Amino acid sequence: MPSFSDHLNQRLATLRRENLFRELRRIDAPAGPRLVLDGRTLINFASNDYLGLADHPALKEAAIKSVEKFGAGSGSSRLICGSSRLFHDLESALADFKQTGAALAFSSGYATAVGTITALMGKDDIIILDKLVHASIVDAARLSGAKLRIFAHNDLNDLEDRLRWASETLADSRANRSILVVTESVFSMDGDVAPLRGLVELKEKYGAWLMVDEAHALGVLGQHGRGLADECGVSRHIEIQMGTLSKAVGASGGYICGSRALVDYLINRARSFIFSTAPVPAAAGAALAGVQLLQSREGEQRRQALHQRIHKLRGLIPGRASEQPLTAIFPVIVGDEARAVNTAARLRENNIFAPAVRYPTVARGAARLRISLTAAHSAEDLDALAQNLARINR
Ligand SMILES: *Cc1c(COP(=O)(O)O)cnc(C)c1O
Repeated sequence: MPSFSDHLNQRLATLRRENLFRELRRIDAPAGPRLVLDGRTLINFASNDYLGLADHPALKEAAIKSVEKFGAGSGSSRLICGSSRLFHDLESALADFKQTGAALAFSSGYATAVGTITALMGKDDIIILDKLVHASIVDAARLSGAKLRIFAHNDLNDLEDRLRWASETLADSRANRSILVVTESVFSMDGDVAPLRGLVELKEKYGAWLMVDEAHALGVLGQHGRGLADECGVSRHIEIQMGTLSKAVGASGGYICGSRALVDYLINRARSFIFSTAPVPAAAGAALAGVQLLQSREGEQRRQALHQRIHKLRGLIPGRASEQPLTAIFPVIVGDEARAVNTAARLRENNIFAPAVRYPTVARGAARLRISLTAAHSAEDLDALAQNLARINR
């Protein structure tokens, strides 16, 4: 029998052969539009820090103050030793911002998806996912034990077929069964947007619930950066609004916004909330400052700067329908995994950092460079990117 290490080394060899091996690249600086890798400074087009808040003085100051007041660690789950005022302030700010009855903070976006979906859905229920939703949602749906169906990406006709099937399936059973539809609002690897108005119409027609993950829309779209649901005017019709505090908000953690009943239920049933130590004070303090900053004048200016960058890049690398909302993610589809890795390496030689995204983050054979813009990029950064992409296309 091969030893444990031999066994793992065989698996790793397979990953390498398929160009799917991943490794950590060590950097030595805060998140920002530049990163220093092997002693060279590269322009960073890989970050989700869309407004450049991760290294913002106001967030750092808030984190430091939170540590001084509430300590470095949290000590326990919020249900055990009491729930720090800091989280209640953060949750009030989130509920105000998103104009919902209540909010609940989790330690990460991943924990938010897993805790929420498994709390709400069980083996007699049906979950219907967009084909391209984030891994956290796929894992959550599987873990819930519910029947799982996938609809073609952003395809309302296909979704309606599944909803019809689901409501017929549940009509035969007498018990109180539920259907949940889950989508992202801005898709993390493609940068396109879900047809939220159509999704709301359909879920209401079939009596399903709708959960929308706004991870890449919060801070970027909608009034004050409230997200795509706000931009489409459908926030009030979405039962479960999810997002993360780790992207445009610039800190760390995840959240659910919705009714008071939803939040009370999650406090009682979301296992990733109940059986996990509360986020550290520094994270909650920085997130609160980030949520406030999104809505400030400065937040507005940063959002405008980001939108200008997006406009400019759309002009330089065509391919995104111009009527689409201004999302900060630009996929350059390469297809083959080896080619994607080589292209990313060539860009790095020219001081551009854009990651090669491969299976299992995207489908096999759909490898791509995922370019994301932030308010902190300069016009020259975009020119350098466009020149390099043009060279690669040739
Ligand atoms: C990043 C991301 C998450 C996970 O959020 P974390 O706070 O990083 O755990 C969930 N959903 C989507 C769509 C994401 O992009």
